[in-house]
Amino acid sequence: MLEAFTYAVPSDLSQHLRPGMRVRVQFGQRQQIGLVESVGTGDADSDAPGKARLRPVLQVLDDEPVLDDDLLHLCRWVADYYVAPIGLVHRAAVPPGLLSSRNPAGAAQKTQQVVRITATLPTLVEREKAFGRARRQQEAFELLESLGGSATLAHLDKGLGFSRSVIKALVDRGMAEIGDETVERDPFEAADPVEASPTNLTPDQSRVLAGLADLLAAAPQDPGIALLRGVTGSGKTVIYIRLIQLAISTGQSALVLVPEIGLTPQTVARFRAVFGDDVAVLHSGLSAGERHDAWRALRDGSKRVAIGTRSAVFAPLRNLGVIVIDEEHDGSYKQAETPRYHARAVAAVRARMQRALLVLGSATPSLESWHNASHGRYALYELEARATEHQLPSVRLIDRRGTHESGSAVLSDDLRAAIETRLRDDRQTLLLLNRRGYATVQQCRACGWVAACRACNVSLTWHRRRARLVCHHCGWEESVPDRCPSCTDADLSFGGIGTEQVERVLGEAFPAARIARMDVDTTGGKWAHGRILRRVRERRIDILLGTQMIAKGLDLPGVTLVGVIDADVGLNLPDFRAAERTFQLLSQVAGRAGRGAEAGEVLIQTLRPDHPALQHAVTHDYVSFAAAEIEDRRAPRYPPHRRIANLVVSGPHETSVADDAESLAEWLREVIDAGPPGVSLVGPAPCPIDRLRGRWRWHMLLKSDRAGPLGQVLRHAAGSSPVSTANRLEIDRDPESLL
Ligand code: ADP
Ligand code: ZN
Ligand code: ZN
Repeated sequence: MLEAFTYAVPSDLSQHLRPGMRVRVQFGQRQQIGLVESVGTGDADSDAPGKARLRPVLQVLDDEPVLDDDLLHLCRWVADYYVAPIGLVHRAAVPPGLLSSRNPAGAAQKTQQVVRITATLPTLVEREKAFGRARRQQEAFELLESLGGSATLAHLDKGLGFSRSVIKALVDRGMAEIGDETVERDPFEAADPVEASPTNLTPDQSRVLAGLADLLAAAPQDPGIALLRGVTGSGKTVIYIRLIQLAISTGQSALVLVPEIGLTPQTVARFRAVFGDDVAVLHSGLSAGERHDAWRALRDGSKRVAIGTRSAVFAPLRNLGVIVIDEEHDGSYKQAETPRYHARAVAAVRARMQRALLVLGSATPSLESWHNASHGRYALYELEARATEHQLPSVRLIDRRGTHESGSAVLSDDLRAAIETRLRDDRQTLLLLNRRGYATVQQCRACGWVAACRACNVSLTWHRRRARLVCHHCGWEESVPDRCPSCTDADLSFGGIGTEQVERVLGEAFPAARIARMDVDTTGGKWAHGRILRRVRERRIDILLGTQMIAKGLDLPGVTLVGVIDADVGLNLPDFRAAERTFQLLSQVAGRAGRGAEAGEVLIQTLRPDHPALQHAVTHDYVSFAAAEIEDRRAPRYPPHRRIANLVVSGPHETSVADDAESLAEWLREVIDAGPPGVSLVGPAPCPIDRLRGRWRWHMLLKSDRAGPLGQVLRHAAGSSPVSTANRLEIDRDPESLL
């Protein structure tokens, strides 16, 4: 159910019905499961119109609320701020399956041996007396303390390397005990082993950790937000881990958000290496039952560290101490369908509500967060150098102006020579091209016809291996014509190079090289990324080519060269974030070079070598880029100077959509004139992609320097706008993209 509805509660059920519990109700012809928003009293009978017709709740499905009061409150905030139906927010917030009409699969459980400490040794003197020279026992004891007092035996010996005899000695001396405990099954059990967390922080790391620790300690009185900007490899993850250890050691829990689990297996493995079975990993690869297990373990406090993607921001952690958002600039934190929430904004509200610290980390923070930090709203911490002795790679632009785009020109001489050197020296190369398929446009040279999607106003991409033309927006596919459908001429040409074509060019240029391609087309299976990456790590691949998915979080010590085939792909998008996204992507992929002992080199091919996003990427200069870009967004005003909402009217008929967009804009201008000041309207105009999945699209932007008045206008629009029922109005507050 999308909206809130009122039901009568039979007296035999009213005893233990509380908000946040699931109930079965009759809805129209069908039975549905809904979440109880609030439980009212029965004495409003007389003034509740239609009360006699209220249908009864049929069954209460929970003993304990699925969402506690805090999370219900958080959902209400999301529904309110993003102008979304509360029912859809509940659905986004709880594990999938929980609110579907069938009950989720039962949870499979197994038993494991767990070591628990039984002694407390508050002073150093007592500690020395107790352990003497038994250093390993002391280490094991202190590690258990930092994990909150217990860990599984398997994690202690296989994960952390404490021998059974050390643990047995602790038990024999009455300082620990071993018992059986039911634990949830663990889909990440087979994850790759990782290095232990370094024992000594650099002075820079220590300074940052000390600052964050103070904020953590102060959070119960004064919850705050910290932005940690640190170049890739500066040791941010190590800091998150230490900070979370602090929180756990005082009995609190922690939430870590990452952009995409499949692409960041190493990050997850590092948390697991330290926190072992205290970690619940929440990701889309989990079955409904697995996710339900993890959810319950967090709610009852048997796991205290949650790692997950966007929706994990609703994880039911108790006594929350800290939320960490890694790569906080990443676009995947914004949900692309209703409720169109941004996990960073939700986390900020949650942290304030539950009196926790929010830490935002990135090498290239979003301009919104950077702006907030610059104005003192967030505490700012910075790490300028890599944590290891390795230097940042040298970055060079390769000016491709004047060359002709063709298969043989994919690689400049410089890039080709650099790859050759790596092949000769048995080093690895990473190549980025953020465009998949073989060619992005098929065009008739006689009449100009372009192969376009029937449902979307975009050109079709030629996938050569499958011999199909494919729409990357809706998935439509068709066969490749050998004559122009419009003029029957046979002179059809292909333009716009994609990863499939680069793979072929590489194969021809370096016949002996072992090449792997990683993009949506090659990573269909659940763990396909992992398999490709393992081959790279085991040095069974010389050149890894891919879309932006190769830019994220990978630590591949054998890679000494990163090449960007065409940096202009994202730069030329008609979107106000195009430059920001390009700078972020280039910085991120450049950060993959030279993470081992040898210096890295980055070569970027472009037709726009003077663009600030590229210039500042060369010098690794985030601060100058941000300053220039923030200045650029003053006229016309865009975030972070203004808060914006994108209103999209869509429907099957072009003129009807245009008419509705015009009347919505007119209506909004009246609302704005009558309402609180400071809100303005831009548009309407056709969207940059003016037809998508068979629907024509027009949009307009509402801008304001304050959240309150903007929200008022949006709620008004959602409630009573003049958009006809034939068309749809979608509201995207704080949009990540305007395409
Ligand atoms: P980031 O999260 O900023 O990319 P990481 O925490 O992943 O950085 O650290 C980058 C690399 O440096 C990792 O291999 C990590 O083990 C190593 N490292 C981090 N801090 C230290 C330290 N204090 N001493 C030695 N190595 C460190
Ligand atoms: Zn033609
Ligand atoms: Zn399409």
